[in-house]
Amino acid sequence: MEQTFIANGIVLDKQPWGERDSKVFLYTRERGRLDVVARGSRAILSKLNGHLEPFNSVELMIIRGRNQDYVGGAISRGIRYNLISDLRRLASAGRVLNKVRKAIWPSDADPILYDALENVLDLLNHQESKPVEWPLVALGAEIRLLSSLGFVIDTDNCQLCAAELIKGAYQRVSGELVCPTCARVMPEECLVVNPIILANLRVIYKEKPMMWPKLWQISGSSAGDLSRMIERLSFYRN
Ligand SMILES: [Zn+2]
Repeated sequence: MEQTFIANGIVLDKQPWGERDSKVFLYTRERGRLDVVARGSRAILSKLNGHLEPFNSVELMIIRGRNQDYVGGAISRGIRYNLISDLRRLASAGRVLNKVRKAIWPSDADPILYDALENVLDLLNHQESKPVEWPLVALGAEIRLLSSLGFVIDTDNCQLCAAELIKGAYQRVSGELVCPTCARVMPEECLVVNPIILANLRVIYKEKPMMWPKLWQISGSSAGDLSRMIERLSFYRN
């Protein structure tokens, strides 16, 4: 059995563990979610401590233990200063990391999702990103996360009659998009999706997160509709 290994990860959370140690929850590129113990990391002078803060990207040397893996060493690959010093950026990023921690199982490795999450955090950290974008970035990250778990909304065709979607409606029961003609048959079950949301969903699925703000034009009420759609999708996962 391997004794040590190297992993690249995003720190999702860190909690006190016993008298002097911390438990660190990571999402890693190579191994999906990984929960490790950092020994002595609560001592004030611990070198590990600064590297293992939430929202950091780190390269870690992990030591395999019988019941628990330990951090042997850590190097920061990115400390996101703008993000951690602004409560509103933090709130959006925190929402994303919390979802990842709940939705991803250990050894669910997904390099594409990992890179997208790095990108999302960089975007929330970016000097020039605007407050209005931050909750939308978090929503986009959730849609990406759900799609990597197999919950993809087809944004091209109606799920009932296969017509090409120019306008659409969201069918609450199935969590899928249908065309306006099909939606008229069961109006109480459908949430009309404006074309801007449809366009944004396509952008979120097809473009890198860094491209999102350049492409989307979305109002507060549309963001609310998008948010409700995601809540419904999350519901299917739970
Ligand atoms: Zn249809």
